[in-house]
Amino acid sequence: MTDENLIAGVHQFVAREIAPAASQVDRDRAFPDGHWRKLCDFGLAGLTLPTGSGGLAADTGTLLAAAEAVAGGCASTAWALLAHLTVCSGIAALGTAEQKARYLPQLASGQRMGGTLAGTETGGGSNPGSIKTTATPQDDGWELNGSKFFITQAGAGDVYLVLARTDTAPGPQSLSCFIVDKDDPGLRFGEREATMGLHGVQVREVFFDHCRLPADRLLGQVGGAMALLGAVSSVAVLGVSAAALGIAQAALDTTLAYLKQRTVLGQPLASHPAVQAQVAQLVQEATGARAWLAWGQQQMAQGIQGPPVPLWLTKVSVTEAASRVVDKCLGLHGAVGYSQALPLERMHRDLRAFSIHWGNNDVLMDMAGKAALA
Ligand SMILES: Cc1cc2nc3c(=O)[nH]c(=O)nc-3n(C[C@H](O)[C@H](O)[C@H](O)COP(=O)(O)OP(=O)(O)OC[C@H]3O[C@@H](n4cnc5c(N)ncnc54)[C@H](O)[C@@H]3O)c2cc1C
Repeated sequence: MTDENLIAGVHQFVAREIAPAASQVDRDRAFPDGHWRKLCDFGLAGLTLPTGSGGLAADTGTLLAAAEAVAGGCASTAWALLAHLTVCSGIAALGTAEQKARYLPQLASGQRMGGTLAGTETGGGSNPGSIKTTATPQDDGWELNGSKFFITQAGAGDVYLVLARTDTAPGPQSLSCFIVDKDDPGLRFGEREATMGLHGVQVREVFFDHCRLPADRLLGQVGGAMALLGAVSSVAVLGVSAAALGIAQAALDTTLAYLKQRTVLGQPLASHPAVQAQVAQLVQEATGARAWLAWGQQQMAQGIQGPPVPLWLTKVSVTEAASRVVDKCLGLHGAVGYSQALPLERMHRDLRAFSIHWGNNDVLMDMAGKAALA
């Protein structure tokens, strides 16, 4: 059951603290001082964590509504928050009692910020089989060697979940997950990428040069990467879809208000039948995306057997509908839609990343097609 009181509070918090900072975040390519602290003081850093760890124990519906609300105010903030919550979810689901006690209270309070799940490598991020980073057992733990590419909040986050190869055999059972701290010896961050959007988020390469980890940094089982991906999917697939919907809904709300007040040749834009038809299409797209999200959430609650095709289809359907909505909303503003004076062009740039990461949309469709034909 979605916690309606909490969500009403999140909407007020976003309107007061997050949305007003969004264009500054975009311009400065940084979150303003105290931004993360505000999210933490509100409780969002521990949103999905159990109360025993200092979290709010939000269920999936509440998580999705919160992600939508935050992204509607500032996509960069939502992306960074979901990256943090991905780390939280992974440790909460698969961590040992000792790992949970060591990491979760600090992540919930925001004293430590989660970076994200680091999987992608330069050899082809869309295929986990291309992961070459190795984790070699040592007498006293593990040694990581290799690199990751385009990693969200790399250098900004304090804790990362890193996928590495523990076996040379092909297939996902050769990949394991490790908890890596920012100050672990042998961990190094590259130059920040100059990204198209999501300017508040730092994206960098990450290098592991004989990076030594104690034995208790293995998260889950050896070869347990797939269990990890399953454990984080409510945040990393549905949460990201909800965030994309939040951006689209904000664009739609802005556009409806604009069309009602803009007049061209003495006629309100809203009175043109062709504009009305476009608005109907926008409402249809946004409603369809919301229905997809609800369906994905329902499928997940019922338990998905085999490959998570419903989650893949949900992510692709919602993020692509959101992209179409934002693009059309931008167009309905005419020239000012293309201007940095309004949020549409920022939303357009920010949203593009949602189809590329958290499961590449083309790859998800490829896998969904193969699963249907199996
Ligand atoms: C802003 C941003 C943040 C990111 N943050 C992270 C992060 O925190 N952690 C992380 O691990 N990764 C992160 N990534 C990387 C992202 O997950 C990868 O870019 C993505 O998986 C695609 O990998 P690639 O870039 O190597 O593309 P490639 O593997 O080179 O693929 C290029 C394109 O080819 C097409 N393609 C490839 N394979 C197939 C297929 N089987 N079927 C159909 N089409 C296919 C797709 O269109 C794909 O986009 C981030 C990316 C961005 C843009």
